[in-house]
Amino acid sequence: MTINIVLAGPRGKMGTEAVKMISNEQTFNLVACIDRKNNGKYLSDIHPSFHLNIPIYEDAEVCFNEVRPDVFVDLTVPNIGYLHTKIALEQHIFSVVGTSGFNEAQIDDLSLLAEQNNTGCIIAPNFALGAVLMMIFSKIAAKYFPDVEIIEKHHDKKLDAPSGTALKTTEMIKHSRKAKQQGNPDEYEIIEGSRGGNVDGIRIHSMRLPGLVAHQEVVFGSKSQLLSIKHDSFHRESFMDGLKIAINEVIHLKKLVYGLENIMDLY
Ligand code: NAP
Repeated sequence: MTINIVLAGPRGKMGTEAVKMISNEQTFNLVACIDRKNNGKYLSDIHPSFHLNIPIYEDAEVCFNEVRPDVFVDLTVPNIGYLHTKIALEQHIFSVVGTSGFNEAQIDDLSLLAEQNNTGCIIAPNFALGAVLMMIFSKIAAKYFPDVEIIEKHHDKKLDAPSGTALKTTEMIKHSRKAKQQGNPDEYEIIEGSRGGNVDGIRIHSMRLPGLVAHQEVVFGSKSQLLSIKHDSFHRESFMDGLKIAINEVIHLKKLVYGLENIMDLY
């Protein structure tokens, strides 16, 4: 079966990799793209090396009405990605969201919409399979090592902090970690923010520098030992295997699933 796909964000770094992956996959068919410019042009106009005669739309609603894809993939920015996905789900189009930075209310809204429309949606803050495993290993470790801090490092063009992956990691850790006050109860910051963000007592430190792609280390401390679980994405192609899995799986879902680990065959 061929899966017809509309991709939003084709000029972006993730979008460019996704165009490459989708057009190399025999069972995927890229039928249109959504961009904030280039309405009426073709993908070959913005990516001449791909030679793809695929129409570009600026308006998601018009695009979905005219093209009727099986799956919509969003790789843009949080507020726009949220609107695109809302329109897709309202039109019963399966959706895969790689865009990170959605807030809880937005995820809840989309979750309700997916359920009401019996339409699958996958939101994955990290498509890198190694990063998903890092989060699962961290969840296991937190049961025995409740003192934990996260250091996440990303390129300096990233909008949201902390990263979706760091937030997802804390959410997974919360399921196995006993609630705990970490560090010195009397500690104070001389410079605000020195101790990082605080999610349930877990500190998250976000670094943004040119040269980085997406990196995270989850550090667990205990008496006379440290456990570090670390993952590095050196190139955006590291996210494409996970995106492929999500596109193939979303068409079998009738609700929203948050996190790739919930659709991977892990055990
Ligand atoms: P990027 O290079 O900045 O690409 C974002 C693209 O979205 C740009 O082409 C941008 O266009 C476009 N865009 C902005 N506003 C838009 C609108 N109103 N309508 C349509 N397109 C619009 O960023 P990236 O590195 O590709 O990342 C894209 C998203 O994926 C981010 O949210 C990032 O955090 C996330 N991400 C997810 C994963 C994962 O595994 N899930 C991995 C890496 C990144 P302009 O150039 O005109 O602004």
